Amino acid sequence: MCAGCPVIDECLELELRTTGANTVGVWGALPDADRREVHRAWLRHRGGERP
Ligand code: SF4
Repeated sequence: MCAGCPVIDECLELELRTTGANTVGVWGALPDADRREVHRAWLRHRGGERP
């Protein structure tokens, strides 16, 4: 569904910044379970600060 989308990176980042662990559905070509894992890594990379 998301293959070839011109805003795939921005879509994922927006969801990480706004919904984070409570995310549902598909954003940035990732299903919610995968995105929750990405969100944990993203928070660690940011030093644990909340977006
Ligand atoms: S969910 Fe995001 S990445 Fe996928 S098609 Fe829609 S805007 Fe693009």
